[in-house]
Amino acid sequence: MPDYIYLLENRLSPAQRNALQLVRDIARDASMTVFLAGGAVRDLTSGSSVRDLDFTVQGNALKLLKKLEKSGVVLLGEHEPSRSMSLWFPGSVRVEVSTARREEYPKPGKPIYHWATIHEDLRRRDFTANAMALSLNESSYGLLLDPLNGVADIEARLLRLASNYGFLEDPSRLVRAWRLHHRLGWELEERTLVRYQNAKEEGVISAIPHYLLGVEIEAIAHEEDALGALKALEAEGWMKHLDPAWISAKADSTGLAALHRTLTQLQIQGVYPDPSAAQMELLTAKMQPKELAGLKKLFPNPGFVAQWESLESDAKEFARVLSGKDAASPSATWKLLTSYQAEPVLWLAFSSKSAPVQTKFNNFFNVWPDAKQRVPLALLLEMRITPELPGYDDLLQEIFFHLIDGQLQTEEEMRAFLEPYSPPAPPAPVNVRKTRGRRAERVRIEEELEEETDLHEDAELAAESEDDMDEERPEADDAPPPPKPALKSVLPGEKTTADGGKKASSSTSKKGSLQPAGIVEAATSKQSQAAPKPAGKGKAAKAVPAPKEEAKPKQATPAQSQKVAKSTPAKAIQKQVKPVPKKVVAAKPAPAKKQAGKAVPKKIASKATPKSAPSKAAAKSKPEPKAHGKKVAAKKKH
Ligand code: ATP
Repeated sequence: MPDYIYLLENRLSPAQRNALQLVRDIARDASMTVFLAGGAVRDLTSGSSVRDLDFTVQGNALKLLKKLEKSGVVLLGEHEPSRSMSLWFPGSVRVEVSTARREEYPKPGKPIYHWATIHEDLRRRDFTANAMALSLNESSYGLLLDPLNGVADIEARLLRLASNYGFLEDPSRLVRAWRLHHRLGWELEERTLVRYQNAKEEGVISAIPHYLLGVEIEAIAHEEDALGALKALEAEGWMKHLDPAWISAKADSTGLAALHRTLTQLQIQGVYPDPSAAQMELLTAKMQPKELAGLKKLFPNPGFVAQWESLESDAKEFARVLSGKDAASPSATWKLLTSYQAEPVLWLAFSSKSAPVQTKFNNFFNVWPDAKQRVPLALLLEMRITPELPGYDDLLQEIFFHLIDGQLQTEEEMRAFLEPYSPPAPPAPVNVRKTRGRRAERVRIEEELEEETDLHEDAELAAESEDDMDEERPEADDAPPPPKPALKSVLPGEKTTADGGKKASSSTSKKGSLQPAGIVEAATSKQSQAAPKPAGKGKAAKAVPAPKEEAKPKQATPAQSQKVAKSTPAKAIQKQVKPVPKKVVAAKPAPAKKQAGKAVPKKIASKATPKSAPSKAAAKSKPEPKAHGKKVAAKKKH
């Protein structure tokens, strides 16, 4: 399902967006709910370009006309019975505003209108793909109303009648079906095709109302490939019912091809004329004046016929302006061509035989655009003039105008011109060494703490080796002392879990301080010395000072042990080192050989799993983890 708010913002031209906003505002002021409906919603959904805008309001649409005209909108024609009107908005936007209605057909082609809601209105439409609406109202902007599942038929590229009697009630739908089939390349849905063929054979078309016949004739003029549409309708036999005098052989097909080339050239330069009137002129080029007059009478919108008839005079007026002082320089000519009413520009560009006019158009299409390649983008970048700067696009345009006027020929001239737009150089980069300094400080603290810890452990090892010497001397030489496991670096706000992982620390996060890990540990150690905490998680989760590198397994050499043992009585050292998180250190199991030798009790062995490190208190009352099974067992002997 497409995001219609996005599509409304991105798939409509700026002029169409303005038109939509104006209708929204005026309908809201008149307290009428308003919807975008019909072909515009179909085209937005299918990804085709939106050609014109159809609005439906709940309320009398004709009441909006005065306010619209005050905003520069031109009325092309209105149909009082259905309370609908065709309008021309600034920027060449064709708009239809209609009143939501239900239609009743007591006789083919003779509708009776009942003012209704948008939902009823959608059900009276021709094909399901055209029976969708988008809310433009404040509280539901962009909401799609699709009561007949038009989206599915759009996806399947099918034209499906909205009502089984669609062709019989309104035979103009036969012409519409064929025109849309030709334009979109969609097939008629199976049953719709059968109904189409039946209605065609039965000659239902003869009941087409005069008004709708005119609507279908004018619709040919608005087709992008108008000659193709005319030929398709002719081949299907519909043109002889619409206007037998209007046949494709009377069109200027060469002229139409040239008109489309000119149209494309203008569009490339950002000029978007509505070619309908120009096409009509060429589609009827070889018709007799009488035939032409008869055809024009069929058109439902006199405003459109007026545009068609004034094509030549409007172009003449534009030619006069183009030869005057308003187009004295290339840049002035460019500005004039891109801001003037686009339809006379198209017709003059297509039809003028005047050499100066042709030269100007040739320059506009083929010569001046080359200057866009000479805009010095590298120099702009060097001078810090980048697309993010406000007014960047305007500046590019200004440079372009100077270039086509033959100014800013040298780099010096260009630099001098750009200098006022060049923003000052950015300030020197911030000193990033600060972070390194902090890190170095942290490493220094960690190293100090590590030394302290080593000292404690050395002392402990000395005490232990003293114990071992007392009790296990025969084995002491075979078994290496338990290796010192790697110390995990712990970030503030994290605690080590017994399995060596990290988890969020409620205590540190409460403090809200981002201290290096070692400091957290030192503080905790002091606290635990001062007031012993309850045994368990707290101790097990205590942070260990982070070493500079992964700690190398240290062995307490006999010399070290002796040295410490000599200087400090072993028991005293043991007391002193109590706060050191020995339980975390104990995470690594002792060599299997030793365990086997000492026949560690099962309970102890299970405690040794690093999942839940025993608490300080537990260390006293409960057996030590596996790695220390031997020592604990030895201590228990005491
Ligand atoms: P286009 O792209 O040619 O403008 P469109 O579908 O918008 O195609 P319009 O003639 O502008 O055609 O009509 C607008 C909408 O009004 C249609 O989409 C359709 O919903 C409805 N409509 C027009 N003519 C009929 C008709 N004869 N019967 C029923 N609904 C119609």
